[in-house]
Amino acid sequence: MEEEELRNLQFECRRCWHVWDEEYLVRQGDDGRGHQREMWLHDGVHVAPPATAATCPACGSAQVTTFPEGYLDRHPEARRIGEPAVPDESRLLSPVPKHLI
Ligand SMILES: [Zn+2]
Repeated sequence: MEEEELRNLQFECRRCWHVWDEEYLVRQGDDGRGHQREMWLHDGVHVAPPATAATCPACGSAQVTTFPEGYLDRHPEARRIGEPAVPDESRLLSPVPKHLI
């Protein structure tokens, strides 16, 4: 028996911290030898499981992780990781420990 499930996967690039999501159709089925298998379709095309084969659309890196489903809905702040960080200027001040002055 086959089951189909729509899964919205959320990705994060470990190189440029780009965050995005994509929708996949996952077809659960029997491989004919009694083993459960998952087939992944994206836009109707068979693809490798995205957790192992995803690449970043921003920089092309394959260093990509997936979030647990729904993670970004509970942690909207994670989407902001890709924005430029505010430079930390405090580190530029007083490089010499005060007790040496
Ligand atoms: Zn990237």
